[in-house]
Parts: sequence; C-alpha cells; structure tokens
Amino acid sequence: VNVEGCIFCKILSKDIPSETVYEHGNVFAFLDNRPINRGHTLIIHKHHHEDIFDTPEEDLKEMMVAAKHISIAVRMAMKADGINIGMNNKPAAGQAVMHAHLHVIPRFEKDGLKHWPGKNYSPEELKIDAELIKKEL
Ligand code: 5GP
Ligand code: ZN
Repeated sequence: VNVEGCIFCKILSKDIPSETVYEHGNVFAFLDNRPINRGHTLIIHKHHHEDIFDTPEEDLKEMMVAAKHISIAVRMAMKADGINIGMNNKPAAGQAVMHAHLHVIPRFEKDGLKHWPGKNYSPEELKIDAELIKKEL
C-alpha cells in the first residue's frame, strides 16, 4: 500500500533513493540519512501503518524479527558495543515520519549519548500507575 505523500512509501517504491540494507517478505530496512551513529537503520513494513497503535500484531512481529537479524549484522559491521531498538509513536514521542518504523541504533561506550532522564516517584504513585494500566489491558 503506497500512501500518497509518505516518504517511507516513496523510499519503498524507489521514488526516493535510500541505502537499502535488508528486504525480506514484507519487511524493508534502509539506513537513516541522518544517523545517530553510523549504521543507524530503519525497519519498515511494506504495508503503510502510522504507528504501533494501528499496526497489526503480525506485521509488528515481522518487524521485530527483522530487528533481531539486523541488530546482529549492525553490531558486527559497525563493531558496536550495544544496540538500541527504538520506536517513536506520535509526534509527542518524537515521531516525525508517520509510517511506523523501528530504529536500530548502534551504540558505543564513548559515543557521548545519555540515557533518558528518569524521575523519582513514590512506591504509592507507581502502584497507582500500574493499577491504571492494568485496568486498560
Ligand atoms: P522518527 O523521529 O519519525 O522516529 O524518525 C524518522 C527518521 O527518519 C529520522 O531519524 C530521520 O533522520 C529519518 N529520515 C527522514 N527522512 C528520511 C529520508 O528521506 N531518508 C532516510 N534514509 N531517512 C530519513
Ligand atoms: Zn508509508
């Protein structure tokens, strides 16, 4: 499904060039053109979905299995010390391209990136949050 105006659908159809690293079944992966570190790869499903909320479980599974294979390859190729798998969902979470994608980001001991800042909440607050979430499941 090629959705009008979607840059990742255009990358898929080769209307926009990219450095492809993987294509298997309905999964496609290419290099991020503004990588956090070299080897930063994006994984998409060929079906256009916006984010984790509207992506079918089967498609998410295929993307995550690809993330496993690509993580191994990126780690070896870039001699990375670690790998982050990320998915930004909705603009509030940093999503800029509205075609669901996983980031495979090679990490190095001294790459200067910081872990996200955790905040302190009380055990009572954590309990409340767990209850709220469990009610929705
Ligand atoms: P998001 O913030 O939506 O999770 O990440 C989108 C990612 O896509 C960004 O890291 C950005 O650098 C990358 N990106 C945006 N446009 C293009 C493009 O035209 N080609 C490639 N290869 N990557 C892109
Ligand atoms: Zn798309």
